[in-house]
Amino acid sequence: MPNTHKLAFIDKALTTRTQKKLLRTLQTFEPADAITVCKHGKTLIDFSGNDYLGLSKHPQIIAAVQKYAQRYGVGSTASRLVSGNYSIHEELENKLAISYGSESALLFSTGFQANSTVLSVLADRNSLILCDRLIHNSLIQGIIASRAQFIRYRHQDLEHLEKLLSHHASKNYNRIVIVSETVFSMDGDYLPPTPLIQLAQQYQAILYLDDAHAFGVLGKNGMGLTAGQKGVDVAIGTFGKAFGSFGAFITCSNKIRDYLVNTCSGIIYTTALPPPIIGAIIAALDLMPQLESQRQFLQQQAQVLREQLQALRYSTGASNSQIVPMILGDESKALSLTRWLENQGILVAAIRPPTVPVGTARIRITLSSQHRKEHYSRLVQAIQSWK
Ligand SMILES: *Cc1c(COP(=O)(O)O)cnc(C)c1O
Repeated sequence: MPNTHKLAFIDKALTTRTQKKLLRTLQTFEPADAITVCKHGKTLIDFSGNDYLGLSKHPQIIAAVQKYAQRYGVGSTASRLVSGNYSIHEELENKLAISYGSESALLFSTGFQANSTVLSVLADRNSLILCDRLIHNSLIQGIIASRAQFIRYRHQDLEHLEKLLSHHASKNYNRIVIVSETVFSMDGDYLPPTPLIQLAQQYQAILYLDDAHAFGVLGKNGMGLTAGQKGVDVAIGTFGKAFGSFGAFITCSNKIRDYLVNTCSGIIYTTALPPPIIGAIIAALDLMPQLESQRQFLQQQAQVLREQLQALRYSTGASNSQIVPMILGDESKALSLTRWLENQGILVAAIRPPTVPVGTARIRITLSSQHRKEHYSRLVQAIQSWK
């Protein structure tokens, strides 16, 4: 045994992060309304959250939460495989499957839990997983847990993916799984899923798509970019983003659902979603078809903002969604702009490695349909005056 304190490795890890200016610390916020938060008593316009439609503060959803808490209690008291599976869980899953156009749906506690546990049972040590280089950490966790061999293809580069597919198709893998996001969380870019679906079909690969940032925002009735698409074997959406509350679900076939209920640790060994959250999700789902003009406004504003930032000679990467990165390259620049904006009453997220590749540190601006012209002009003026 080395002659050092048993927790010395923690000192070392924290010191290294501090020296590299990569130390993460928790900041405290008090929410005010759908687009403003207070930090240490200072009111900030929030351009950092994922509450794209302002539903976290929607009166109809709050009323549903209260009603479900009264009727069913605060907690679901057990795993769904014990006695935590209420009729409301199944009602929600049926509604989701109908809205999505899939055979079935399965709820999860969080998107992180879904990604990190579903993938682990869709592949094993004899499988190959091909995934986009920029996928979310929760997907990587699932891939690692599966013990499959995995290769990351260049971001959104389907030619690279096809090369890998044709190169590995004849090898002795029991199956190939393709993993991608639709809207990428740190770049805000997306492609239509059709070419991926075709590749998956051509090579008999399982297709797993994470629709977290499209669900509620894009597609028919806001049901995401994979809704109604035959050939996506598993799609995942989350309720913590545009749906304004908490939780996640996957859409899939009845057969995959049955398999996961039997094998997926993220379903079996966890407490079912609490009834008030089920109420919030059902209320949000009922609202979705009425929010088309909000969704359009959101995407128009994102386009205007990108043009304004580009006119100031900033790169917004390949963004074509409500997530608009301003790629600055250097960590210290991203931090400096974030602090500058905060002094001007605007909150954005500084995103640094390892969340994004080295040399692509950025601020990530996320829009809400509740932001108004004056909020955008304050944002752009503050960026323009950055010294
Ligand atoms: C946020 C996010 C998740 C995790 O969802 P949670 O419900 O917040 O755990 C998964 N995938 C992507 C792409 C995300 O952006």
